[in-house]
This record gives sequence, structure tokens and C-alpha cells, in this order.
Amino acid sequence: MKSSNSWPLTRSRNSCERMKGKGLRMEGRGMIKPSTIEAAHREGLILQQRGSDYWGLCPFPGHTEKTASFKIGNQGFYCFGCNTGGGDSIDLVQKIHGLTFSDALAYLGIQRQTPINRQAAAEARRERERKADLLRRFRSWEQGQVDYLASMLRTFRSMQARARTESELQAVAEMCRAMDEVEHVYENILCRKDDAPKFELYQEAGHAGN
Ligand SMILES: [Zn+2]
Repeated sequence: MKSSNSWPLTRSRNSCERMKGKGLRMEGRGMIKPSTIEAAHREGLILQQRGSDYWGLCPFPGHTEKTASFKIGNQGFYCFGCNTGGGDSIDLVQKIHGLTFSDALAYLGIQRQTPINRQAAAEARRERERKADLLRRFRSWEQGQVDYLASMLRTFRSMQARARTESELQAVAEMCRAMDEVEHVYENILCRKDDAPKFELYQEAGHAGN
């Protein structure tokens, strides 16, 4: 195909190759159907905007032209030279490359959503949400425990420091054993980074099965 400076524009081989390269990377990444115009860009079509539509040289096999008669917009595409038209990007690449519907999906990197994998995707999403919710509850419980035990320790230490009378000293002595346990849980379990022992505590605290 020769290039021409006159309007309408022709396809340039170099930009065509570049766009194809870009298209391949996008295809590997996306599962979403590209817009018709995006697919046309990926094909290396050089398009010029006129109003809300774009015009370029016909990309379909068997029709070579020097002036643009191929119109493309959000609603679809049509070549006034060879009377070939259609709606979406799948339709477009099918007609450009003579692909079956399935091959066109693969070409565009679109994953076909069968009822089975839609269901699997929904289940996977629910499972991700369930785990995220459990994690939020676990972290919130963990923070609550840390705050609670820290405040118990502060109270105990201040009682210990202020105890003067025999009864106060007696009360502190009785609390000592319990505080050893509190201190152990607070400092050795909850304030360390290891999650497994924290999770055991969480389960013991009545969150079994979570
Ligand atoms: Zn045409």
C-alpha cells in the first residue's frame, strides 16, 4: 500500500507495526473487550476524526483504496467502498483477519465468560471477601486485646507502685500471678510479629472455626 499525503490518510507500515506491538501487550494483559476504535488502533489503522466519527482506509481484505471510505465510531464501522460493516471490536477483527468468533476472542485477549467460569469467578470473589472480612475482624480483635492488656498492666503497675497499706499490698500480691499471665500474653504473643500464636488465642477467645 502506497502512502499518500492527501486526505484521507493511508496506513503507514511503521506505525502499523508499532501499533500491533502495543496491541499484543494489551492483549496479554486484558480480558475486557476493547472498544471498536481501540481495536482499530491496535490494527494500526490511521484514522482521522470528523465529527464524532473516524475515517480511514478500508482495512478489509480484497479492498484497496487511496481515499478513505471506511467510517468507524462508537456504534460500529462501515466501508462505503466494499459495503462491509459491523458493530463491535470482535466483529471488526473477524472481518479484517477472517477469524471465527472464538479465534477473534483469543486474538483480542478476551476470556469467554461461560456460565461455569462466571460462577467460579463469583465464588472466588466471595471467598476473597470472606477472607478479607475475617482478617479485618482478627486484626480488630488483636488491637482490642493489646489495648485492653496494656491498660491492665498500666493499672497493675501503678497499684504496685502506690501500694502502702497492708490490704493494698495484699491485693497486689494476689494480682501478681494473674499479671504474669497477662504480661506473657501481651509481650510474648500479641506484641510479637508471629501471627500463629495470636490466631490460637483468637480461636480460644471464642472465634473457633474462623
Ligand atoms: Zn472496503
